[in-house]
Amino acid sequence: IAEAAGPQETAFENALRPRTLDELIGQERVREQLALVLDAAVARDRTPDHVLLSGPPGLGKTTIAMIIAHQLSAPLRLTSGPAIQHAGDLAAILSGVNEGDVLFIDEIHRMSRPAEELLYMAMEDFRVDVVVGKGPGATAIPLQIPPFTVVGATTRAGLLPGPLRDRFGFTAQLDYYEPADLDRIVRRSADLLDLQVSADASAEIGSRSRGTPRIANRLLRRVRDYAEVRADGTVDHAVARAALDLYEVDHLGLDRLDRAVLDALCRNFGGGPVGITTLAVAVAEERETVEELAEPFLVRLGFLARTPRGRVATAAAWRHLGLSAPPGAGS
Ligand code: ADP
Repeated sequence: IAEAAGPQETAFENALRPRTLDELIGQERVREQLALVLDAAVARDRTPDHVLLSGPPGLGKTTIAMIIAHQLSAPLRLTSGPAIQHAGDLAAILSGVNEGDVLFIDEIHRMSRPAEELLYMAMEDFRVDVVVGKGPGATAIPLQIPPFTVVGATTRAGLLPGPLRDRFGFTAQLDYYEPADLDRIVRRSADLLDLQVSADASAEIGSRSRGTPRIANRLLRRVRDYAEVRADGTVDHAVARAALDLYEVDHLGLDRLDRAVLDALCRNFGGGPVGITTLAVAVAEERETVEELAEPFLVRLGFLARTPRGRVATAAAWRHLGLSAPPGAGS
């Protein structure tokens, strides 16, 4: 259920994306702060500060970037860190920027170093020197860029070099959503899809969505399939429960990687403490993936604790796996 989005899902996601800050559900503080930044910029007829959004995937970073452009009535240009491997890639993008544009850079922490340096000059001075050629014949051609706004998205703000991070005037950390917010997101999506969903069903889907709107919408889609094929098309509590059980969605929303990490932690390492690198090897994943995707959610649920000596499973984690915790397991 946590895999990357395919083309069908992308179309589905776009159809459900909130278009304005008022339509955005949850993240009240971020919404209020951002509204202020944008309103002030509009009132002064200036481009707003650059915005950095950080948080796990599926929490609304792309959505917010689109909303920023929409509220400013500005065109949005989309790119991503992995697409900018050379400073020249970025120079090409910057040379096409018009005044007031919003440039969204997803996975901004994955740009190459030289591109990062070029970007922070552009963000600061709206002017960069593009080096053409190599060796003694190389020349620097100044490129003037009209005022524009960068919206950067990253899974972890800490992965960005300090000088680049400092160029963002507004930084927002998105956190996992509360079940009540996810319930509202499911109901909003159901309305847009013309799907009848009972209140206890939307609450059930919301609470099994791993704190993540993208997953809430994804589960709603699975439940809709089930309702259409095995029931009369409407989603009541029994239909929602049966569909989610069929797809083996954990009642707390844990996905395969979350469960693998907990499993390894308890079964292979006796509940820890164990280093993150060792833990990642045990689940055959990159350290970053475990650190950025699984860990924050497990910490949030109170299943995993980070200690100076390594990661430790709490008593609640043992219980969730249906195992009895060894004496002395944290609570
Ligand atoms: P990210 O860029 O952080 O990976 P997206 O912005 O692509 O996440 O959001 C994923 C999906 O979740 C989108 O379809 C969007 O409609 C939905 N979504 C995200 N945040 C919200 C929200 N606050 N309210 C309603 N829907 C949301």
